[in-house]
Amino acid sequence: MDKYTLGSVRRTKIVATLGPATEDPVAIESLIHAGADVLRFNFSHDAAEEQRERVKQVRAIASKLNRYVGIMGDLQGPKIRIESFKEGSAYLKQGQTFVLDTDLGPDDGNERSVGVAYDDLKNDVSSGDILLLDDGQIVLDVASVEGNQIICQVKEGGLLANHKGLNKKGGGLSAPALTDKDRKDIEVAAELGMDYVAVSFARNAEDIREARKLLHLSGGQGHIVAKIERAEAVENIAEIIDVSDVIMVARGDLAVEVGYAAMTGLQKSLIKRTRLQNKVSITATQMLESMIANSSPTRAEVSDVANAVMDGTDAVMLSAETAIGKYPDQAVKTMGELCIGAEKHELFSRPKNYRLEDVFSYVDEAIALAAMYTANHLHVSAIITLTESGSTSRWMSRVRSNIPIYAFTRHETTRWRVALYRGVYPAPFDVVNAEPGEIDRSAIQVLERAGAVVSGDLVLFTSGDLAGVPGGTNTLRILKVPSSNTDIERRDRNR
Ligand code: PGA
Ligand code: MN
Repeated sequence: MDKYTLGSVRRTKIVATLGPATEDPVAIESLIHAGADVLRFNFSHDAAEEQRERVKQVRAIASKLNRYVGIMGDLQGPKIRIESFKEGSAYLKQGQTFVLDTDLGPDDGNERSVGVAYDDLKNDVSSGDILLLDDGQIVLDVASVEGNQIICQVKEGGLLANHKGLNKKGGGLSAPALTDKDRKDIEVAAELGMDYVAVSFARNAEDIREARKLLHLSGGQGHIVAKIERAEAVENIAEIIDVSDVIMVARGDLAVEVGYAAMTGLQKSLIKRTRLQNKVSITATQMLESMIANSSPTRAEVSDVANAVMDGTDAVMLSAETAIGKYPDQAVKTMGELCIGAEKHELFSRPKNYRLEDVFSYVDEAIALAAMYTANHLHVSAIITLTESGSTSRWMSRVRSNIPIYAFTRHETTRWRVALYRGVYPAPFDVVNAEPGEIDRSAIQVLERAGAVVSGDLVLFTSGDLAGVPGGTNTLRILKVPSSNTDIERRDRNR
C-alpha cells in the first residue's frame, strides 16, 4: 500500500458527478486517479440498467487503484419543469403576458403559453408571487390564477427552452420530496449498495425519515444526504440536520429560492450548523463552472472553492464540470489543488472553543473529542481510530486539525462511507483476527510501511476493549513509533 492509497495531503474531499463525459471505464479511472473521493450518480438522467453496470465498474476500478471511493445516488425529486415548445424554445419579451397552463399539451408551448406537468401549481401560487424559470434566467410576476392557467407578466425575459426548471421565489411549492420515480430509484440504490442516497428538494425531517425507511425496507444501508435547496428546508434546518447524515448546500436551486444575495451567508451558516450537530457537509454547484469549456478556472471560481474550504465544508462537488465538461479530470485536479491551498490558511480561523460547553451523549464521542484535543495540543503525527461504522472518525473530523485521521476498519462499506469525511482516510484492518496485544503495533506498522509515520513519531490511537463491536470505543492511547521492531510497550516501560 502506498502513501497515496492512505490519503493525500488534501483534507477536503471531492465529489464528482458522472455523466456522458465520464461514463466509460477509462474516464472513470482518470477521475479517481485525479482525486475524486465520491462519485455521484444522477438519477435524473440515467436508467437503472446503466447505473447497475457503472456501479460495478466504479467498484472494480477503485479496487484496482487501491482506493476507497464512495458512491452517491442523487434522486431526481419533484423538480418542477415546464413542458415543451412547438419550436423547441420561445423568446419571452419583457412586459408581455405569458401563461403557465397545466391543461396545455406537452408539446404545445409557444411565445404566449407553455404546459407544466404539475397539477397543483394553481393551488401553490397566487397573484403577486414571483416565479423563476431556468435557474432564475427568466422572471415572471404572477398576475392572476384562472382555473388551471397561471397568468404572468414577464419581468425579465429571454430565450426559454424546453423542460427548464420552475421555482417559486421564497419557496412554497408543495410537491412532496419523494416522487414515485424516486421511490423506485431508492430500491435501485439499495440493490446496488450505494453508500449515499441524496434526497432532492427535501422540505423537512419527515422527508428524510421516509427516504431512510424506504431504503432500509429495500435492504439498503446507505447514508442519507439532505439537499438543502428549498426555502422550507432552510426554515426546518435544525430538524433536518438531526435526522440526516449529510447536508448538501445545493446552491443551484437554493439561490433561486432564497435569492442570490442571501446564498453565501446561508452557505456559511449551514456548514457551521451541520458541523456543530456532528454531521457532514457538501458544498455543491457551479464551483468550477467555466471549466466545462475551459481548462482553467476563473478567479471567482478559485475563490469560491477556497471559501467553501475555509467555511469548513467536508467536501466540494463538481456537477456538469465532470458530467458533460470537456476537462473532467483537469477539473478534479484543479479542485484538489485549490483545496490544499485553502487548507493552509484554514487553521488560522480554527474556533477555539469547539463544543466546550457541551455534554457528550456517548462514550465513543467523548473519546473522539478528547483525542482531537490531545492530538492538536501534543502535535502527534497521525491518529488511528479502529472503527466499525466510522462514527468515531466522523466525530473526530468535526474538530479542525491538520493531523490525518486514519479510519482503520474491517468493513468495506465503512471505508467507502468515510471517504467523504474531511481529513479522514480509510484503511483496511482486520481487528477481529489480529492477535490480541499486537493490534496497536500492527496498526502502526501499516502507517509506517505506507511512509505516513517514521520512527520516533507520536501516534494517537483509539480503540474499544471489545474488538469488532460498534460503539465500543473507550480507550485513547498515545504511542511512539519504535525505532526498530521492538515491542512498543516494553520500550515505553524501559524509559
Ligand atoms: P441538482 O442539485 O444539481 O440535482 O439540481 C444541486 C443544486 O440544486 O444545486
Ligand atoms: Mn437542485
